[in-house]
Amino acid sequence: MDYTLPVFLAELAAALAVFGYALRRRLRHLLLGRPENRLDSIGRRIWGFIGLVLGQRKVLKEKFGIVHLVIFWGFIVISLGTLQFVGEGLKEGFTLPFLGSNPYFYLVKDIFSIMVLGAVAAAAFRRYVIRPERLEANLDAAIILAMITGLIVTELVSSGLAQLLHAAPGREMAPVYNLVAGLAAASGAGKEVLLVQQKVWWWMHVTLLLGFLAYIPYSKHMHLLAAPFNVFLRNLKPRGGQINPVNLEDEEAEEFGVSRVESFTRKQLLDLYACAECGRCQDNCPAYLSGKSLSPKQLIHKLKDHLSEKGDALARAGKDGIKDFAGKELIGEVVSEDEIWACTTCYSCQEQCPVTNEHINKIIDMRRSLVMDRGEFPQEAVLACRNMEKNFNPWGIGWYSRGEWSKDLGVKVAGVDQPGAEYLYWVGCAGSFDDRSRKIARSMVKIMREAGITFSVLGSEEKCCGDSARRMGNEYLFQTLAAENVSLLNELGVTRIVTHCPHCLNTLKNEYPAFGGNFEVIHHTQLIAGLISQGRLQFREDLEGLRVAYHDSCYLGRYNGEYEAPRKILRAIPGVILLEARRNRGRSFCCGAGGGRMWMEEHGGMRINGMRVDQLLEKGPEAVGVNCPFCLTMIDDGLKAREAEEKVSAMDVSEIVARYLEYRAAADEEEDTAVEKAS
Ligand code: SF4
Ligand code: SF4
Repeated sequence: MDYTLPVFLAELAAALAVFGYALRRRLRHLLLGRPENRLDSIGRRIWGFIGLVLGQRKVLKEKFGIVHLVIFWGFIVISLGTLQFVGEGLKEGFTLPFLGSNPYFYLVKDIFSIMVLGAVAAAAFRRYVIRPERLEANLDAAIILAMITGLIVTELVSSGLAQLLHAAPGREMAPVYNLVAGLAAASGAGKEVLLVQQKVWWWMHVTLLLGFLAYIPYSKHMHLLAAPFNVFLRNLKPRGGQINPVNLEDEEAEEFGVSRVESFTRKQLLDLYACAECGRCQDNCPAYLSGKSLSPKQLIHKLKDHLSEKGDALARAGKDGIKDFAGKELIGEVVSEDEIWACTTCYSCQEQCPVTNEHINKIIDMRRSLVMDRGEFPQEAVLACRNMEKNFNPWGIGWYSRGEWSKDLGVKVAGVDQPGAEYLYWVGCAGSFDDRSRKIARSMVKIMREAGITFSVLGSEEKCCGDSARRMGNEYLFQTLAAENVSLLNELGVTRIVTHCPHCLNTLKNEYPAFGGNFEVIHHTQLIAGLISQGRLQFREDLEGLRVAYHDSCYLGRYNGEYEAPRKILRAIPGVILLEARRNRGRSFCCGAGGGRMWMEEHGGMRINGMRVDQLLEKGPEAVGVNCPFCLTMIDDGLKAREAEEKVSAMDVSEIVARYLEYRAAADEEEDTAVEKAS
């Protein structure tokens, strides 16, 4: 009697039971979260899935990504081969439709088998010999790599022996099968012996395969199951508008932030299982790299462990019993307050994450809990918020003086003396109150006048856009500011806005639509680049050259995808030499001021702005070109800390433009002097 089928079915049932038990447990944990609809725009979701999962687009951003691509696609092709392999072991003559006797399929599968073995060896060498910090040289990864190797080797040997014993159609082009068959024939072993050997290798393969299936949901390779769903359900909103909204009117809400893991949304919890523990996020996180306690990878990892622990407790106690949960508190014990406040919301982690995890929303949700539910947040942040509440700017300077910077320039005020201007110039708090940034605003006035643009400002009626308040977790303050700004802009009939600061750009463009503010918003570098293209700005050629290392800000670059406009401007100026920092564009390094960090002290480790300045100074610049007033302050401070401010100055791109501009229109002497001083 042939026991192959019953024994196989018994093994399969056992593997499915172990697999199903773990999967059910994980699913129950996920369902603890709040529902969130991520099933809009199915076409875009499928398209992104193709690029990110099948094309491994983000994985391939780094050289070693090719190894993962080979393993991923090898896995798919070899799995088809495995179906045929297992099928013919169970039933003689079994043939998969289209593939089972197709010689090209076996050729491709054989080639993939060799490539995957090479890729697994490379991955093991990297993880256990090179040992990059971001990858853990743990047992879990070793088990998975050993299992993949075992699966391929057992299939190749068993199929090669089968080929020798009873040649099946389609295998004649498979080089490894033929090699194994040749070696077995040369060994001189008898047919009976070879038959037994072939059967043993087949069983080894089947047992490994089912063991692999059972092991997946218990290991980090749970990401094989969760990541494709996670990518499909990714956030499709513009990057700058992805912060989870809070319904402050909800009287039923127990909390506005997240202080318990089950208060995250189901998608936020799915992120935890989708994580491949690749460490790309950590490798690009300015907080982690500067020695702060935050690592986005560890954050995800800790949340996952906590979810498992609490999820199991819930399963035992029922939802009502959770109040008696004696495990760790999410904030303070699982994730420290230092970690929560260390994030600059630079988006570098999310830019790199191959499974589209969303770290920033989780951090902001926990900040909201500290700020709005508990009223516990850093003193400096309290002060900045109080200033924004009272004077509508984080510095706390009298709100009525907001428009003073432009009084001597005769800039028109919207709704007062400038009807029908082409643009509303949104100056922002820095441009209005910070002495250094005021000079940049004056440069912008000069440039727009030179190009013949009509514009107005809101003067003392402009209020902080609320970017820092929202990212510090003070959603109430943000929504108050947003509502007041939107109401005024709508009342004035404003349609086109040019912002001084990329944080204002992001907020007005991507966040105000949710509050009824729908405007065409551009950044000042985008306006200037357009004016240069139209030939409305000309530059002098008789001035001394300038070597400019350009710094991509997070909120213009990663959040709003604008990398070209500032570069186009700098390339257009005769004498300016554009220098690219080692970390540039999507991999640019934050200056340290985002996420409300501008208003807080930096504790522990190195200063982020110092690290960025070091990267920029590597290029030997005479100036660092920036596009953001926060970056300007941070880079300026960093240059001073390195005692480099005598040789290298931080300059906004618009200041460089103003310095080199050939003034054909009437720009008065006084303004010239002011801008010259600024640069
Ligand atoms: S947003 Fe930036 S600072 Fe925050 S965790 Fe991600 S990489 Fe780190
Ligand atoms: S969160 Fe994303 S980038 Fe970070 S370790 Fe996990 S998979 Fe890698």
